[in-house]
Amino acid sequence: MKILNAFEIQKNFLDDRPVMKDQNKDMTALLAMLSREVEELFEEPHGMSPEKYMEQELADVAILAFSALQLLTGDADLAIREKQARNSLRYEAWMFDGRMSYDEAKNLAKNNFGARENAEFYADY
Ligand SMILES: [Mg+2]
Repeated sequence: MKILNAFEIQKNFLDDRPVMKDQNKDMTALLAMLSREVEELFEEPHGMSPEKYMEQELADVAILAFSALQLLTGDADLAIREKQARNSLRYEAWMFDGRMSYDEAKNLAKNNFGARENAEFYADY
């Protein structure tokens, strides 16, 4: 039996719940739900341990962010992998190897990777 990843489980979850799947076609509604889930991160843990509560609410945030990304792109997994590739180019490993502080490295990355590099990275070839 194939073990499903989180993206596949979410797809199956929505395929079994067409009303919820339909609601997830409204970007404004999705972003409003995402915002509410972020707010829940700062609430009291409703009888759970603080760690379990944070785990549950961060998972809600991730699921809704994934749903919004899926709606926008049609392939959230690909969009995340593309962003990770871009981040690898922008935040080069040598910058964060301990020779600079985090803030210095972050500023260097910000200054080195500007609009021109973004345009190149996302250009259609
Ligand atoms: Mg929640």
